[in-house]
Amino acid sequence: MMNEAHPGYTEGITAVYPGSFDPATNGHLDIIRRGAGAFGRLIVAVGINAGKNPLFSASERVQLLSEACADLPNVAITTFDGLLVKFARQQGAKVILKGLRAVSDFEYEFQMALANRRLAPDVETMFMMTSAEHLYLSSSLVKEIARLQGDISVLVPENVEVRLKERLLVQSVAPLGKSEEPGV
Ligand code: ADP
Repeated sequence: MMNEAHPGYTEGITAVYPGSFDPATNGHLDIIRRGAGAFGRLIVAVGINAGKNPLFSASERVQLLSEACADLPNVAITTFDGLLVKFARQQGAKVILKGLRAVSDFEYEFQMALANRRLAPDVETMFMMTSAEHLYLSSSLVKEIARLQGDISVLVPENVEVRLKERLLVQSVAPLGKSEEPGV
Protein backbone atom coordinates (compact mmCIF):
# COMPACT_ATOMS: atom_id res chain seq x y z
CA MET A 1 0.00 0.00 0.00
CA MET A 2 1.30 3.45 -0.82
CA ASN A 3 1.53 6.47 1.44
CA GLU A 4 -0.96 8.75 -0.31
CA ALA A 5 0.34 11.97 1.28
CA HIS A 6 3.87 11.28 0.03
CA PRO A 7 3.61 8.79 -2.81
CA GLY A 8 6.77 6.76 -3.11
CA TYR A 9 8.30 7.92 0.15
CA THR A 10 7.98 4.69 2.10
CA GLU A 11 6.77 2.57 -0.81
CA GLY A 12 10.12 0.94 -1.42
CA ILE A 13 10.89 0.31 2.23
CA THR A 14 10.72 -3.14 3.75
CA ALA A 15 10.13 -3.34 7.49
CA VAL A 16 10.50 -6.31 9.83
CA TYR A 17 8.04 -6.65 12.72
CA PRO A 18 9.52 -9.15 15.20
CA GLY A 19 7.91 -10.83 18.17
CA SER A 20 6.92 -14.08 19.75
CA PHE A 21 3.22 -13.87 18.80
CA ASP A 22 2.30 -16.72 21.17
CA PRO A 23 -0.45 -16.27 20.03
CA ALA A 24 -1.20 -13.20 17.88
CA THR A 25 -3.58 -10.70 19.49
CA ASN A 26 -5.64 -7.81 18.10
CA GLY A 27 -2.84 -5.54 19.39
CA HIS A 28 -0.36 -7.28 17.06
CA LEU A 29 -2.87 -7.22 14.20
CA ASP A 30 -3.40 -3.50 14.67
CA ILE A 31 0.35 -2.85 14.32
CA ILE A 32 0.55 -5.19 11.31
CA ARG A 33 -2.33 -3.47 9.49
CA ARG A 34 -0.97 0.00 10.18
CA GLY A 35 2.57 -1.14 9.32
CA ALA A 36 1.34 -2.63 6.04
CA GLY A 37 -0.18 0.76 5.22
CA ALA A 38 2.99 2.65 6.07
CA PHE A 39 5.63 0.46 4.38
CA GLY A 40 5.96 -1.16 0.97
CA ARG A 41 6.50 -4.60 2.47
CA LEU A 42 6.12 -5.86 6.00
CA ILE A 43 7.76 -9.08 7.16
CA VAL A 44 6.28 -10.39 10.39
CA ALA A 45 9.13 -12.35 11.98
CA VAL A 46 8.12 -15.00 14.48
CA GLY A 47 10.96 -15.66 16.92
CA ILE A 48 11.69 -19.35 17.30
CA ASN A 49 12.85 -18.85 20.88
CA ALA A 50 9.61 -17.56 22.37
CA GLY A 51 10.62 -17.78 25.99
CA LYS A 52 11.12 -21.19 27.51
CA ASN A 53 7.80 -22.79 26.94
CA PRO A 54 5.63 -21.40 24.14
CA LEU A 55 2.04 -22.60 23.95
CA PHE A 56 2.16 -22.77 20.15
CA SER A 57 5.07 -24.01 18.03
CA ALA A 58 6.73 -21.51 15.70
CA SER A 59 4.99 -23.02 12.67
CA GLU A 60 1.61 -22.87 14.41
CA ARG A 61 2.21 -19.20 15.27
CA VAL A 62 3.10 -18.53 11.62
CA GLN A 63 -0.03 -20.36 10.49
CA LEU A 64 -2.31 -18.36 12.82
CA LEU A 65 -0.79 -15.07 11.68
CA SER A 66 -0.99 -16.06 8.01
CA GLU A 67 -4.70 -16.79 8.33
CA ALA A 68 -5.35 -13.52 10.16
CA CYS A 69 -3.37 -11.50 7.57
CA ALA A 70 -4.68 -13.27 4.47
CA ASP A 71 -6.19 -10.01 3.15
CA LEU A 72 -2.90 -8.08 3.34
CA PRO A 73 -0.94 -8.71 0.12
CA ASN A 74 2.25 -6.89 1.18
CA VAL A 75 2.61 -8.79 4.45
CA ALA A 76 4.76 -11.92 4.69
CA ILE A 77 5.01 -14.12 7.77
CA THR A 78 8.12 -16.13 8.54
CA THR A 79 10.18 -17.48 11.43
CA PHE A 80 13.55 -16.14 12.46
CA ASP A 81 16.30 -17.25 14.74
CA GLY A 82 19.47 -15.52 15.92
CA LEU A 83 20.38 -11.88 15.58
CA LEU A 84 17.47 -9.70 14.47
CA VAL A 85 19.56 -7.09 12.62
CA LYS A 86 21.24 -9.87 10.64
CA PHE A 87 17.84 -11.23 9.67
CA ALA A 88 16.66 -7.71 8.72
CA ARG A 89 19.69 -7.21 6.47
CA GLN A 90 19.18 -10.61 4.85
CA GLN A 91 15.61 -9.58 4.03
CA GLY A 92 16.70 -6.21 2.64
CA ALA A 93 14.78 -4.44 5.44
CA LYS A 94 15.81 -0.96 6.51
CA VAL A 95 13.35 -0.75 9.36
CA ILE A 96 12.60 -2.78 12.47
CA LEU A 97 9.03 -2.00 13.49
CA LYS A 98 8.03 -2.34 17.16
CA GLY A 99 4.74 -1.73 18.90
CA LEU A 100 4.75 0.32 22.11
CA ARG A 101 2.18 -0.19 24.80
CA ALA A 102 2.32 1.20 28.32
CA VAL A 103 5.40 2.87 29.77
CA SER A 104 6.56 -0.55 30.97
CA ASP A 105 7.56 -1.48 27.40
CA PHE A 106 9.71 1.59 27.03
CA GLU A 107 12.91 0.82 28.90
CA TYR A 108 13.38 -2.64 27.41
CA GLU A 109 12.59 -1.42 23.90
CA PHE A 110 14.94 1.56 24.29
CA GLN A 111 17.74 -0.79 25.31
CA MET A 112 17.09 -3.13 22.38
CA ALA A 113 16.85 -0.29 19.88
CA LEU A 114 20.17 1.20 21.02
CA ALA A 115 21.89 -2.20 20.99
CA ASN A 116 20.57 -2.90 17.49
CA ARG A 117 21.67 0.52 16.26
CA ARG A 118 25.17 -0.16 17.54
CA LEU A 119 25.20 -3.49 15.71
CA ALA A 120 23.64 -2.15 12.52
CA PRO A 121 23.45 1.66 12.11
CA ASP A 122 21.86 1.16 8.68
CA VAL A 123 18.75 -0.47 10.21
CA GLU A 124 16.37 1.98 11.89
CA THR A 125 14.07 0.92 14.74
CA MET A 126 10.69 2.64 14.51
CA PHE A 127 7.93 2.54 17.11
CA MET A 128 4.23 2.61 16.53
CA MET A 129 2.04 3.59 19.46
CA THR A 130 -0.61 1.07 20.32
CA SER A 131 -4.25 1.98 19.82
CA ALA A 132 -5.90 2.93 23.11
CA GLU A 133 -8.03 -0.20 23.31
CA HIS A 134 -4.93 -2.42 23.12
CA LEU A 135 -2.86 -0.59 25.71
CA TYR A 136 -2.72 -3.45 28.20
CA LEU A 137 -3.23 -6.32 25.77
CA SER A 138 -0.53 -9.00 25.66
CA SER A 139 -0.34 -12.64 24.59
CA SER A 140 0.24 -13.71 28.18
CA LEU A 141 -2.86 -11.83 29.39
CA VAL A 142 -4.95 -13.47 26.67
CA LYS A 143 -3.68 -16.94 27.66
CA GLU A 144 -4.42 -16.24 31.31
CA ILE A 145 -7.99 -15.11 30.58
CA ALA A 146 -8.55 -18.09 28.28
CA ARG A 147 -7.26 -20.51 30.95
CA LEU A 148 -9.79 -19.03 33.36
CA GLN A 149 -12.48 -19.46 30.69
CA GLY A 150 -13.02 -15.74 30.27
CA ASP A 151 -14.22 -14.20 27.00
CA ILE A 152 -11.30 -13.43 24.67
CA SER A 153 -13.37 -12.79 21.54
CA VAL A 154 -12.63 -9.05 21.49
CA LEU A 155 -8.92 -9.57 22.20
CA VAL A 156 -7.80 -11.92 19.43
CA PRO A 157 -8.73 -12.79 15.84
CA GLU A 158 -11.38 -15.51 15.52
CA ASN A 159 -9.00 -18.23 14.30
CA VAL A 160 -6.75 -17.62 17.33
CA GLU A 161 -9.71 -17.85 19.71
CA VAL A 162 -10.69 -21.21 18.25
CA ARG A 163 -7.17 -22.70 18.33
CA LEU A 164 -6.43 -21.34 21.79
CA LYS A 165 -9.55 -22.92 23.25
CA GLU A 166 -8.69 -26.23 21.55
CA ARG A 167 -5.15 -26.14 22.85
CA LEU A 168 -6.14 -25.36 26.42
CA LEU A 169 -8.78 -28.08 26.35
CA VAL A 170 -6.15 -30.63 25.37
CA GLN A 171 -3.77 -29.32 28.02
CA SER A 172 -6.26 -29.16 30.84
CA VAL A 173 -6.15 -31.87 33.46
CA ALA A 174 -9.35 -33.92 33.56
CA PRO A 175 -11.51 -32.66 36.43
CA LEU A 176 -12.32 -35.00 39.29
CA GLY A 177 -15.23 -37.23 38.38
CA LYS A 178 -18.34 -37.59 40.56
CA SER A 179 -17.29 -41.05 41.63
CA GLU A 180 -14.17 -39.57 43.22
CA GLU A 181 -16.09 -37.14 45.40
CA PRO A 182 -16.03 -38.18 49.03
CA GLY A 183 -19.18 -39.86 50.24
CA VAL A 184 -20.68 -40.40 46.76
P1 ADP B 1 3.90 -10.04 23.97
O1 ADP B 1 4.24 -11.48 24.16
O2 ADP B 1 4.35 -9.15 25.09
O3 ADP B 1 2.48 -9.79 23.58
P2 ADP B 1 5.42 -10.04 21.47
O4 ADP B 1 6.86 -10.36 21.61
O5 ADP B 1 4.58 -11.08 20.81
O6 ADP B 1 4.81 -9.54 22.83
O7 ADP B 1 5.24 -8.64 20.75
C1 ADP B 1 5.80 -8.33 19.49
C2 ADP B 1 5.73 -6.86 19.25
O8 ADP B 1 4.37 -6.44 19.29
C3 ADP B 1 6.47 -5.99 20.27
O9 ADP B 1 7.00 -4.86 19.58
C4 ADP B 1 5.37 -5.55 21.20
O10 ADP B 1 5.67 -4.33 21.83
C5 ADP B 1 4.22 -5.39 20.22
N1 ADP B 1 2.92 -5.52 20.86
C6 ADP B 1 2.46 -6.57 21.58
N2 ADP B 1 1.20 -6.33 22.01
C7 ADP B 1 0.87 -5.10 21.56
C8 ADP B 1 -0.28 -4.25 21.71
N3 ADP B 1 -1.32 -4.64 22.42
N4 ADP B 1 -0.27 -3.04 21.11
C9 ADP B 1 0.82 -2.66 20.41
N5 ADP B 1 1.94 -3.38 20.25
C10 ADP B 1 1.97 -4.59 20.81
